[in-house]
Amino acid sequence: MRKYSAFAIAREAFRHHSGWQRAWRAPSLKKSYEVVIVGGGGHGLATAYYLAKNHGIRDIAVIEKGWLGGGNTGRNTTIIRSNYLQDESAAIYEKARGLYEGLSAELNYNIMFSPRGVMMLAQTEHELRGYHRINQANAIQGVATEMLTPEQVKAKVPIMEINGPRYPVLGALWQARGGTARHDAVAWGYARAASDLGVDIIQQTEVTGITQSGGQVTGVRTTRGDVACKKLGIVVAGHSGVLAEMAGFRLPIESVSLQALVSEPIKPCIDVVVMANTVHGYLSQSDKGELVIGGGADGYNNYTQRGSFHHVEETVRALIETFPIISRLKQLRQWGGIVDMTGDRSPIIGKTPLGGCFINCGWGTGGFKSIPGSGWALAATMAKGEPDGLAAPFGLARFAEGRFIDESVAAGVAH
Ligand SMILES: Cc1cc2nc3c(=O)[nH]c(=O)nc-3n(C[C@H](O)[C@H](O)[C@H](O)COP(=O)(O)OP(=O)(O)OC[C@H]3O[C@@H](n4cnc5c(N)ncnc54)[C@H](O)[C@@H]3O)c2cc1C
Repeated sequence: MRKYSAFAIAREAFRHHSGWQRAWRAPSLKKSYEVVIVGGGGHGLATAYYLAKNHGIRDIAVIEKGWLGGGNTGRNTTIIRSNYLQDESAAIYEKARGLYEGLSAELNYNIMFSPRGVMMLAQTEHELRGYHRINQANAIQGVATEMLTPEQVKAKVPIMEINGPRYPVLGALWQARGGTARHDAVAWGYARAASDLGVDIIQQTEVTGITQSGGQVTGVRTTRGDVACKKLGIVVAGHSGVLAEMAGFRLPIESVSLQALVSEPIKPCIDVVVMANTVHGYLSQSDKGELVIGGGADGYNNYTQRGSFHHVEETVRALIETFPIISRLKQLRQWGGIVDMTGDRSPIIGKTPLGGCFINCGWGTGGFKSIPGSGWALAATMAKGEPDGLAAPFGLARFAEGRFIDESVAAGVAH
């Protein structure tokens, strides 16, 4: 595949952009593959890419029922950070954040990673103590974070009202190398690089069944026919429970809608990401000038992918005391995505009760930031057939063994 470069842009400018190739190949679905990945979101595509690049396995199909990134990957608010409490979480999220730093160069695709800094506001004494604890844990884990005073918060975000009557800002946990990236570019970049390594990316094809023999996976049924495979990766976020049922096991997962909205575009007014977890709201400003605003997940299980009026009201009401300027903005659009929530708010990565079938799910409200690390870890696990170091703590067995990785404070609301 031809490389993208400044020279290529100049060359194409001189020939009316007639020489660009497809970003990724459009192959027909073969009858069999060594590995099939179900789900063309960021996690599925990253898994395919690292299987091909790190482990030399190239006979792979990624099967997506819609379009690439059309699930949560293209619907999220793109916060990237690694300031989690538990060591296992910090390890995989920090691996992902580190990979994000060099991902545009690695994939030869501009994913617009913007390490502008992520600030988690402490607006109660309890929350302040919690963030001091995470800050200490991060220091031991080698994750660079620091505590900010209210005055330092105000200096970084002048539009913020820090003396609100109900929820004054008491401080903040700050990760300077956290930030954002362009969500669909992450999916497209991995797709293009994986395709270049020989991975078949098959869109508009739904997996409708999983075939097995003697406790071992043998393939998948799809809307374009049956496909045999030796190894299967289920990477479908909110639909994980549906695919698990096809494979004959159950997951400790609940699927709920998580919503977000953007305002009309305005002049640059905030150049960091701010999360206000006590009140359930967060915001950043996109390159187009829109304020990207999100809140908590729906309070009931559902498979809808649209926004609801009461959620806009709740989220904006939560933020307005701290960001009075949003009271005068118009909303441009809102949407929802189906997120897969585990009881301990940590992901599941690893083997399943069905031989040869692996799963990566449970990233819930916060799995965009982990895409590179998660793809890396699942690829290693699938290649070896055994849980890799980063993935090992996140196996399905932890729910039976009571070995939870509790991130309900660092991940239950925050993204
Ligand atoms: C509103 C919102 C805001 C969020 N904000 C953040 C944030 O700021 N930071 C952060 O880190 N995370 C955030 N997240 C979470 C993040 O988006 C997800 O954790 C992550 O994108 C999951 O990626 P994925 O590849 O696992 O799933 P997806 O991107 O959902 O991909 C799964 C794919 O599987 C496909 N699929 C499902 N069933 C089948 C089938 N039977 N056959 C074939 N294909 C199938 C779907 O069509 C889909 O494309 C947010 C999520 C939402 C909804």
